[in-house]
Amino acid sequence: MARFYEFDALLQKEGWLSPAFVGLDDEGNITYLSDQPYPNAALVEKIEGYVVPGFQNAHSHAFQYAMAGLAEHLPKGAASDDFWSWRNAMYDLALHTTPEQMKAIATMLYAEMLRHGYTSVAEFHYLHHDPDGNAYEDLAEMGHCLMQAAQDVGIRITLVPIYYQLGGFETPATPKQRRFLSQCPEEYMALLDATQKAASHYPLARVGMGIHSMRAVPPEYIVQLYQQPMALPRHIHIAEQQKEIDACLAQLKQRPVEWLLDHVELGTQDHLVHATHMDEQECDRLAASGAHVVLCPSTEGNLGDGLFPLKRYVQQGGHWSIGTDSHVGLNPHEELRWLDYGQRLHFERRNILCQREGDDSGEYAFFESLFSGRRAMGDMRTTCFSIGESFDAAIYDATHPLLACAPAARRLSTIVYALDAHALLGTMVQGVWRIREQRHPQQQQIRASFVRALSG
Ligand SMILES: [Zn+2]
Repeated sequence: MARFYEFDALLQKEGWLSPAFVGLDDEGNITYLSDQPYPNAALVEKIEGYVVPGFQNAHSHAFQYAMAGLAEHLPKGAASDDFWSWRNAMYDLALHTTPEQMKAIATMLYAEMLRHGYTSVAEFHYLHHDPDGNAYEDLAEMGHCLMQAAQDVGIRITLVPIYYQLGGFETPATPKQRRFLSQCPEEYMALLDATQKAASHYPLARVGMGIHSMRAVPPEYIVQLYQQPMALPRHIHIAEQQKEIDACLAQLKQRPVEWLLDHVELGTQDHLVHATHMDEQECDRLAASGAHVVLCPSTEGNLGDGLFPLKRYVQQGGHWSIGTDSHVGLNPHEELRWLDYGQRLHFERRNILCQREGDDSGEYAFFESLFSGRRAMGDMRTTCFSIGESFDAAIYDATHPLLACAPAARRLSTIVYALDAHALLGTMVQGVWRIREQRHPQQQQIRASFVRALSG
């Protein structure tokens, strides 16, 4: 059924449309967008809200949500802790996650993402096989669980099946990694093909391609895969931990980002996740290549990864999006603040990501993470609400005292720096309220399934 709304304001690239009259067709696509009332005013629902495009979550491993908060203590017998012990605990979880559990975890997680204002997620998916390491009859069995979860709660998903072959540079995979593995590029292509077929059953799903990391796939196969002519977004973890840099230098005589820049043609379809440890040359070359990075500051902080050189990268024209990775945090405002504050703390300066006089930090971070995040999804749109587009939106409460008092030019910074999901009236995907007043319509059932799946 066609619907008509009047919002206090709606964000466009040029600024805020205010008031904003929005008409939607029964598919949730925009048919009317104007600051002038719709001719038949009787049909219009008035909402005291400020509408922005939904946040893009460009990096997720859904199953890891099951251990959020459970690894914040020193392991038995250890006097200190690092990324690698966390990874061991994560492998144990991965070994035992059934398809039913995967679906229950992802359903809860994706509903929570919607509650925080995300409308799309890129799922970096490597938990492919059964607990013994054998392929499921349908290679995309676990992928189905993820796409079904996304479809059920109403978030867009770009499923990125991941090629994972080795345990480390020239090191065979360990038994704990047996659910992740493809033995060769042909096996991976069969998985990608099965995923594409599976995705055709889910209207909210797209597909990307991905390589786990430089350490998990032999270099010649990385080159081979990047030579495939594909119009899909390409994702890869890279340079997250210093130990990886050392191993890459020992094996390939180059740093990971340097090696990738020298051996494959990177461009705007590429999304390098983390890229934490780059020297200045790698940073400048990566920015110039047109590739994007995906930064996951709450997870990177939690795992003690290090600080991405964001100031330099942005000054060189580099593009970036955000992801929640292990999901220890699910709040896009927090991701954006962490990114900025890491730089402010390091350089002892404010508004570090602004390039020119008058630039606004919140506006920059919001639009950068939106457009780069969309590309990570395989969504090439550079518009911000226009006729014919699906209405995917986060709607903030215009009566919130801080928003009610902020001038339009500072509204995005007020949202990014001073507010959280609590200031959201709700989230719409395809013109449907997926969350309203902090609740998903199936919230009770989603929470109960999650608890049942994890306490069984
Ligand atoms: Zn990751």
